[in-house]
Amino acid sequence: MDTRSDEYRRAIRAITEVQDTVSDAHGCPYCQERREDWLVWCDDGETIECATCGAVYTLDWEMREETTMDAVDRYQAMVRKIDETPELEPYRDLILYDWQEEQEHYNWIMIAPVAEIIEWAESIRCDEALAKMESEIMNEVWTYMDDQT
Ligand SMILES: [Zn+2]
Repeated sequence: MDTRSDEYRRAIRAITEVQDTVSDAHGCPYCQERREDWLVWCDDGETIECATCGAVYTLDWEMREETTMDAVDRYQAMVRKIDETPELEPYRDLILYDWQEEQEHYNWIMIAPVAEIIEWAESIRCDEALAKMESEIMNEVWTYMDDQT
């Protein structure tokens, strides 16, 4: 066996490996591995496993990271925003309320202008006040009708 040609082949392989790199955006977000051979597509066709550090990630990992950001992180980010924005303080409970469209609500809270958030919170307060008044009136009506029968 010709060791020199083995060496040569190894050298060639090393060069090819260095050249076969993916773009920064597609590399491993954890250890910055960019050599294609070290980044293996998983069977699901969506995720990539980094052979260098063992991380599994998706190409749009930044987006994914955001969408899968857990509820606790979202909650804390909103708390921080309120802490930094005294104008929002009176609406803390509304902003942090467990809204159904959680992700959407969070995104909106984080980017909407403060005035818009206040307007939204005020309209909820207003609806709540109206609903309360309505139920109070209805209660009185029922009490009145009960008295009549
Ligand atoms: Zn890695």
